[in-house]
Amino acid sequence: MEIDLVKEKQEILKRYRRLLKAARKTKSDIDKKMIRKAFDVALEAHKDMRRKSGEPYIYHPIAVAEIVADEIGLGTTSIVCALLHDTVEDTYITLEDIEEMFGKKVAVIIDGLTKISGVVDNSDPNYSIQAENFRKIMLTLSDDARVILVKLADRLHNMRTMEHMARHKQLKIAYETLFIYAPLAHRLGLNAIKSELENLAFSYTEPDLYNEINQKLIDNQKKLNRYINKFSLPLINELTDRGFDFDIKGRPKSIYSIARKMKTKNVPFEEVYDIFAIRIILNATEENEKGACWGAYAVITDLYKPRPDRLRDWISTPKANGYEALHTTVMGQDGRWVEIQIRSKRMDEIAEKGLAAHWKYKSKGSSDSKLEDWISKIRSTLEHSEDNTLDFIDDLKLNLFIDEIFIFTPNGEMITLPKGSTVLDFAYEIHSNIGDHCIGAKANHQLVPLNYVLNTGEQLDILTSSKQMPKEEWVDIVKTAKAKNAIKNSLKRIKKKLSDEGKIKFQNIIDGLQIIEDSELIVDLLHYFNLPSTSDFYYRVALKKIDKYLIKDFLEKRTDIKEQQKLAAESSDYKFEKGEVLLLGKNYKGPKYSLSKCCNPIPGDEVFGFVTAKDGIKIHTTNCPNAMHLQANFAFRSIKAKWETIEENQFLTGIKFKGTDDLGLLNKILLVISKQEKVNIKSVYFDAEFGIFEGTIMLYVNNTNQLDKLKEKLLVIDGIHEIKRVDTNVYSEED
Ligand code: MN
Repeated sequence: MEIDLVKEKQEILKRYRRLLKAARKTKSDIDKKMIRKAFDVALEAHKDMRRKSGEPYIYHPIAVAEIVADEIGLGTTSIVCALLHDTVEDTYITLEDIEEMFGKKVAVIIDGLTKISGVVDNSDPNYSIQAENFRKIMLTLSDDARVILVKLADRLHNMRTMEHMARHKQLKIAYETLFIYAPLAHRLGLNAIKSELENLAFSYTEPDLYNEINQKLIDNQKKLNRYINKFSLPLINELTDRGFDFDIKGRPKSIYSIARKMKTKNVPFEEVYDIFAIRIILNATEENEKGACWGAYAVITDLYKPRPDRLRDWISTPKANGYEALHTTVMGQDGRWVEIQIRSKRMDEIAEKGLAAHWKYKSKGSSDSKLEDWISKIRSTLEHSEDNTLDFIDDLKLNLFIDEIFIFTPNGEMITLPKGSTVLDFAYEIHSNIGDHCIGAKANHQLVPLNYVLNTGEQLDILTSSKQMPKEEWVDIVKTAKAKNAIKNSLKRIKKKLSDEGKIKFQNIIDGLQIIEDSELIVDLLHYFNLPSTSDFYYRVALKKIDKYLIKDFLEKRTDIKEQQKLAAESSDYKFEKGEVLLLGKNYKGPKYSLSKCCNPIPGDEVFGFVTAKDGIKIHTTNCPNAMHLQANFAFRSIKAKWETIEENQFLTGIKFKGTDDLGLLNKILLVISKQEKVNIKSVYFDAEFGIFEGTIMLYVNNTNQLDKLKEKLLVIDGIHEIKRVDTNVYSEED
């Protein structure tokens, strides 16, 4: 494409004149000659350079200078520095040249700007560089705050014109903007710039959500305007009647802040959008402005009922960044809460343009020194953390980021998460597949578990294993709705898949045992294993928690169980003598009884019998949770019982233990059990997670004595913290 140089020259001059116009509006003494000189130097230095878009490079410094004048309100020195900000870094011009032509002050600022830009462009993804970066910016801020203000203008213009860049570069710059520049603008009270930076960055980091919210805002605009008018009209009338001179604005929430609220509070767009603010800007002299604000407050709260807990008085004590205003929340029409911000024109200018506006008013005689306080606070923080950059960012992040943390991937990409997020949240944020197979991570090269709570600035390398599967308890580990939903979906999918596999497995087992499946088989199995549904049963078969041996056990006992049930049914006619005690054991002569599955009584336990309608007499332990209910409601159906003989057949029971994970632990446990006389292991199940070791061992014992002795011996083992008898059927504990 041919470039029309004459036309371009005209355009450059047009833009330059627009800059001068903005400069004159700042009301500070503008040195036109100096600005012209800077413009000429920059124009010549950048003359052969073009931006990615193909435009002459000089458009950029002119635009930055215009932002500096128009949107931040700074004067000649800053405008000059903005025009020259890229010359030393990108052209033949040296710092000495600058000092010679524009003096020491300008040279110091340009030096600061060049240094920051050198660090910012570093593509090394290392976290410590990010931190160092941040610290350098702060250091320059304490030299001359104009460095940071010009830098913010530079970043703002770059963000506004980023569409021609490669996607990965856009992302890097956008994340850095969210991480460093937007919070910085906020701290300096540059609210308009802060909002724009956030929105622009967000449109690159999450374009889909950005567009979605943007569209919803457009769709709802008319409805909102109607409401704002309805709400404002009585206010306008009343304030005008009382002689107030004011402007009123309905303030729309920014796309970024809507998205942030939706995410951190996990609420839909409509709920966030519903809250909006009305701003009343009073024309009053500096002497009368406080009185005017409170006067307007009185009028407003006469009309609309205020929420007493929501009055914020930043007039008597301004915020650290210089913000002054009166905020109140009142009940508007249709029961909607509306925030009202009341401030004078001077306060409004400070709120929008921050720092610079602050200086301007300050030079007119205000003695406010909040800015100096702030800068000196930063300086002392810097001085006290010379040796450790990471400590420094830790100190600052407390003030800068309240609800969000920023975590880096190994490639240096930044991920934003709500505070309190864990390794698992991060894994699911990247991809549900990574989340599903996550086994832990390296945080700044240290091995950390799944539930490790992340800290801002950490670089996280997720570790995965193809064998890993999502677990129910993961839902409690994660903080974000995204991760929670992903885990639940995966669990459902896995359970369904396993249950299908289990069905096939079960058929194979049945075929292998040469059993012909009858209509009651599944029902009896569910009853035996105490499971609510067939899919639960198949699921356990797939996990091998119910295997062919357990099924064989069941089949062997099935005839007995059936027989017992039949006899028990007959026994319900049996008449008990008052005060009769069932003497359980070898010589038992009463109606058929069975040991209840819920508490698995063994000889030695304190027990009682309960006459059931269908299953005959069931023996429960007296501390069985079911028994308490039975005793309380059906006392007339319970019979005293005790064990007549204690050395007898072996009974199935179990112990459950918890300890700290150690590879040798299970072996030590098994060794102790195998040495114990007359105790036989039936099955072993254990699981280690987050360094915690949990297991269940089912055992055949003769009586409680043996079990108590065993428990004592096991507790002595190093690493074991807790041993419990398993009273319920171990296979039904999962759900
Ligand atoms: Mn630049």
